[in-house]
Amino acid sequence: MILDQKHARLQKLFRQFAETEFTKEILDRLDETGEFEWDIFRKMARYGFCGVKIPKEYGGAGGDYLAYALLVEEFARVSPVLSIYANTSNSLGGGPLMLAGSEEQKQTYLPPVARGEKIMVFALTEPGAGSDAGGTTTRAEEQPDGSFIINGRKTFISGAPMADWCILFAKTDPTQKGSRGISMFVLDMKLPGVSCGKPEHKMGIKGYPTCDLVLEDVHVPASALVGRKDKGFGYAMQTLDGGRLGMAAQGVGIAQGCLEEAIRYAKERKQFGKPIANFQAISFMLADMATETEAARQLVYHAAQLKDAGKDAGQACSMAKYFAAEAANHVAYKAVQIHGGYGYINEYKVERFYRDARIVPIYEGTSQVQQMVIAGTLLK
Ligand SMILES: Cc1cc2nc3c(=O)[nH]c(=O)nc-3n(C[C@H](O)[C@H](O)[C@H](O)COP(=O)(O)OP(=O)(O)OC[C@H]3O[C@@H](n4cnc5c(N)ncnc54)[C@H](O)[C@@H]3O)c2cc1C
Repeated sequence: MILDQKHARLQKLFRQFAETEFTKEILDRLDETGEFEWDIFRKMARYGFCGVKIPKEYGGAGGDYLAYALLVEEFARVSPVLSIYANTSNSLGGGPLMLAGSEEQKQTYLPPVARGEKIMVFALTEPGAGSDAGGTTTRAEEQPDGSFIINGRKTFISGAPMADWCILFAKTDPTQKGSRGISMFVLDMKLPGVSCGKPEHKMGIKGYPTCDLVLEDVHVPASALVGRKDKGFGYAMQTLDGGRLGMAAQGVGIAQGCLEEAIRYAKERKQFGKPIANFQAISFMLADMATETEAARQLVYHAAQLKDAGKDAGQACSMAKYFAAEAANHVAYKAVQIHGGYGYINEYKVERFYRDARIVPIYEGTSQVQQMVIAGTLLK
């Protein structure tokens, strides 16, 4: 696919921003401390990146899925973790409200999220309900006045420690089995009874804290319900379609970053009196890396275009996420291999890429879940 002028310009803007602003100092600090970097987040917000895909009437830039995918890809090419900073508001945070929110909810929540003044996160996973999100046990009990009391525990919630609001899924009708009877809420994180666990010590994407979210007798008003009661699971799955596209783009960015580092190193590093790039074993690895990266990119752009055209893109998003997530890991593995021992040392960028890549086939639906979705459509 050839990008049109508008998207080529956006791609250039995102690339320039990432190359200029994501300094080695910031990237090292993120990895060392694991703490959220507010300054770079605010800078992204000032450029309007937090609202790239949020409609203009709700304070965003009104961009399409392709623009959003380009943003995540270009940011991830330099820093996978910083690609998440501007991603959440456009996907799992803002997405559910764009999909099912009332006009009042959209007007209340989307503009501050698009401007980066507030952070909205997404809480679906539970200790006992990961891939099988239909196994949600967090309970929202409706009260006679239409409000709800929520009890339960969510796990691995990215951005929870910094969040102002959270899209939360809870069982409203326990008489309905499995994924039925689950509702979607927008939760104020400052409400009594809401607390966060300690941030997890992660292998990669350090600097965007992930933790448990604990809900103890949290009283939310009826206005916190988003969309129709008991229909939340469908909203979650539809939101994840778009989210998967973003994570697929993250995989492409990681693969591209690894490829560029590997090419540079292979030309510089000499063994047996010549650059290692001259050895066919190395150059063929580079050829495989470039081919896999480009194939992943085309799947992502194609899925984005389908979504922008309003077509059913569930299958295409799963294929893109599955392929790009696996590609990022194959390419990162080879990039470390081409660097030899130096690839194992954290001074070299590929060491961090390798750790960061590992999350892509896990979150927003594992590779096995994507295979289930793809096969399910084929065998329908
Ligand atoms: C860093 C990080 C950030 C995250 N951020 C968020 C977030 O912001 N919000 C949120 O809600 N969640 C988040 N998650 C949760 C993430 O989406 C889940 O970890 C993921 O969906 C997998 O669930 P699980 O870890 O319980 O694994 P499980 O579901 O227990 O899976 C374990 C293994 O079994 C496989 N498996 C499971 N079922 C099947 C099956 N039917 N057939 C074949 N194989 C199967 C899986 O593919 C996997 O290999 C995050 C996780 C991490 C690690």
